[in-house]
Amino acid sequence: MEKIASINPATEELIEEIEVDSKEKVVEAVVNARKAFPQWSSMSIEKRIEWINKLIPLIENKKDEIALTITKEMGKPISMSIGGPSIAINKIKYYAKNIQDHLKEEVVFEDEDEKDVLVYEPLGVIAIITPWNYPIATVFASLIPALLCGNTVILKPSEFTLIVGRKIGELFQKLESFGFPKNVFNLVLGGKETGRQVVQQDVDKIIFTGSVQTGREIMKESSSKIHKLLFELGGKDPAIVCSDADMAYAAKKIVRSACNNTGQVCCAVERVYVEADAYDEFVSKAVEEAKAIKVGNPELAKTEIGPFASKFQMDVCIDHLNDAQSKGAKIEFGGKRIKGRGYFFEPTVITNIDHSMKIMTDETFAPIIPIMKVNSIDEAIRYANDSIYGLTGSVWTKDIEKGNKIARQLQVGVAGINKHGGGGAGSAWGGSKLSGIGRLGSREGTHEFTNIKTLRMSK
Ligand code: ADP
Repeated sequence: MEKIASINPATEELIEEIEVDSKEKVVEAVVNARKAFPQWSSMSIEKRIEWINKLIPLIENKKDEIALTITKEMGKPISMSIGGPSIAINKIKYYAKNIQDHLKEEVVFEDEDEKDVLVYEPLGVIAIITPWNYPIATVFASLIPALLCGNTVILKPSEFTLIVGRKIGELFQKLESFGFPKNVFNLVLGGKETGRQVVQQDVDKIIFTGSVQTGREIMKESSSKIHKLLFELGGKDPAIVCSDADMAYAAKKIVRSACNNTGQVCCAVERVYVEADAYDEFVSKAVEEAKAIKVGNPELAKTEIGPFASKFQMDVCIDHLNDAQSKGAKIEFGGKRIKGRGYFFEPTVITNIDHSMKIMTDETFAPIIPIMKVNSIDEAIRYANDSIYGLTGSVWTKDIEKGNKIARQLQVGVAGINKHGGGGAGSAWGGSKLSGIGRLGSREGTHEFTNIKTLRMSK
């Protein structure tokens, strides 16, 4: 029986070795999900909402335990890990309140003789494959609309957060003990190979969050079955700081966005372009902010950033920094692994950079703030859009109208003015270019979990 070791990245100690599910188990999960579909999809939406709402007290009861598991398995500070269960509950509340409206039929054509109506039907079995950086939030963002739309689900969480994945399974086991139909939710635990096995099955859609490379592999594997796909594949998010921005505020928010979760956030600021007039002031304020961040034991309440989730992530960071330094980048602050056990790294501010460096083109997923001087806003926009990615971006200025014009020129899925990152469940989440396909959240996101059928009638 193959096992995967769960390692605490703060101590490098083994937490547990977890059994990988066999290929037979994966096949069986999909067969069972298919069998559970008719009953679940024909249940009224009110009844489905009633069932999913019953998860709220179960999550509430387990929230501290879930948060501590996240912290131990991937190093997120406990003050942030507790946000995972809260986000899960918020997703349930949002969809419970809005999904009936999202799924309302729409008359798109009508005259005396004919009528066309759009109706939103469940798709069938949906596979959800998730990463480790937000092991609760990314799961619930897809799981809740998938289930409420009447689909059954196969969840394959990341191999780096298998124990968190198992806790999600336990929530559903509890729900099943109250009578929730079996096999509506199905969990399979494993790594890449298990993910591949899921993709090889007859599922009706794959919702995947992870790297571009894995996205390509899933797409290739899906080509024979023409699987429907929804992808969120990360980003290299730019922030443009205009000379009229509130510098202290912009520096604080940008540095926090870049370093939050040790930079392991798809929508973290990964590149900063600052107008020449404001450049020196912004750099010195960014250094002050980076210095102020409390790095340390993620189980302590005061800690603001913990270790990288794995040695792999730390190695990517070191590789990108070495590449930048070899091409002339200057480290203004940080730049080193923190001595001792665990994959801890200093928040880092770097300057003298250009787009020949990996740190400006590839997703780094590290607490690094590369700052580049630009001579005009047009130049900043050109650089910001000079990326294979297009997840989120932001502009920082006191002139909201100007900010609005700049934000609209960014080739991204979410553009912020004096703020950076994704919005709540009511906003659409997803990227342009290689950052993804499709959207989660909002009415459009709900429709991703449905077959949009046009009913045509001759009266
Ligand atoms: P990350 O580094 O953000 O975890 P990955 O793309 O490596 O990104 O992994 C995200 C998820 O995709 C994980 O659950 C992983 O096991 C799964 N995965 C990796 N490779 C494949 C694949 N070829 N097919 C399906 N799932 C995969």
